[in-house]
Amino acid sequence: MITVEEAKAILIKNVFQLSGTTTIDVNNALGYTLAENIVALLNLPPFNQSNVDGYAVNLADSLTNKWEVVNEIKAGDNTVMELGKGEAARIFTGAIVPAGSDAVIMQEKITRTENTIHYSETTPIKKGEHIRNAGAHIKNGDLALNKGTILNPAALSFLNALGINNVSVFNKPKIALIITGNELQPAGTILENGKIFESNSVALQSALAAMSLSLNKILFVKDDKNSLEAAVTEALADTDILLISGGISVGDYDYVNEVLNENGTNTLFYKIAQKPGKPLYFGKNKNTFVFGLPGNPASALTCFYEYVFPALKKMMGHENVFLKTVQLPVSKEIIKKSGMALFLKAKATDSAIEPLDGQESFIMKSFAMTNAFIYLPLEKETVKAGENVEVHLLPEY
Ligand code: AMP
Ligand code: MG
Repeated sequence: MITVEEAKAILIKNVFQLSGTTTIDVNNALGYTLAENIVALLNLPPFNQSNVDGYAVNLADSLTNKWEVVNEIKAGDNTVMELGKGEAARIFTGAIVPAGSDAVIMQEKITRTENTIHYSETTPIKKGEHIRNAGAHIKNGDLALNKGTILNPAALSFLNALGINNVSVFNKPKIALIITGNELQPAGTILENGKIFESNSVALQSALAAMSLSLNKILFVKDDKNSLEAAVTEALADTDILLISGGISVGDYDYVNEVLNENGTNTLFYKIAQKPGKPLYFGKNKNTFVFGLPGNPASALTCFYEYVFPALKKMMGHENVFLKTVQLPVSKEIIKKSGMALFLKAKATDSAIEPLDGQESFIMKSFAMTNAFIYLPLEKETVKAGENVEVHLLPEY
């Protein structure tokens, strides 16, 4: 049995960013990692642009602060003109500022009588005010986004603003899931005696969806060695990460470890001094990483967040791969023996963390209220109320 820290070090040492790339539409690129540097091929904004509704004015000979309105320019108008001395143009946000303009004055600060406008405020008009110069955001030829950038909604917006609709990205991991267990029945059916409703597949698929990832394959198998062997062979083909739920403990019908050993999967670790999720398995078969997740729903999901989540993030080229970690004072005493690390389901606020009732590995009622784990390392013993503890924040939905 190894420690949590050892297991995470093994994980990080073995998992690398995937190197394959594809070109995809920016509309479908959320969560991907850029595989190319993006250079601006135009100025942004492309022309001198008004950032208010008002009047573009020529300030030469402006002692009177009066101008004659000679034109109107709306956003999108293709107006080519030049303002002369004493001239102004009615202008709207986003419109081209005509040549010869020194500033745009907000309409709220102007009085207009027919075609004459007057600025009577005491604050002087600043040269260039309310004009976004061409290239103020980015200049033609400048580096816009670095290779390795994670494409979030803002990055996608920026790409489209640059006129780019296709980008080269690193492939997302191809993920397969095998759900094992004779006792499992899908929700929505009539429950037979001795059976339970299967619930790990939805948890894992949803946790993946929140990372903008999805399963390429899902297979359901009974606790039967031959069926499991066949499923594992099928699931390993063309897969970057295989997740197997259940069957990794030491029961007579837990075949996962045996099947993986026999099919040449190299065990990187098996069993961690942690609760929940002690029997967690991690191995590699050719280019596929394999996680054997304990079947108890809270164990499976805890192991997902603590180990599978960082492995996936590393494969996608993220720098910070683990759950965000903060220190918070705990709201009440926690009794703990040394020898086993704990991930406690907890509720974090900005100023404290409260461990929830119902920590056993089969309990999802408390997990449904959980937004963070309290992590207590193996050697730690009882924690006093008010003591700072390590908190792993779960992704928000
Ligand atoms: P196992 O890891 O296969 O020994 O399973 C441990 C416990 O988790 C057993 O009580 C199983 O019935 C339960 N379990 C295993 N897989 C699932 C699943 N997919 N959904 C809900 N419970 C499960
Ligand atoms: Mg089982």
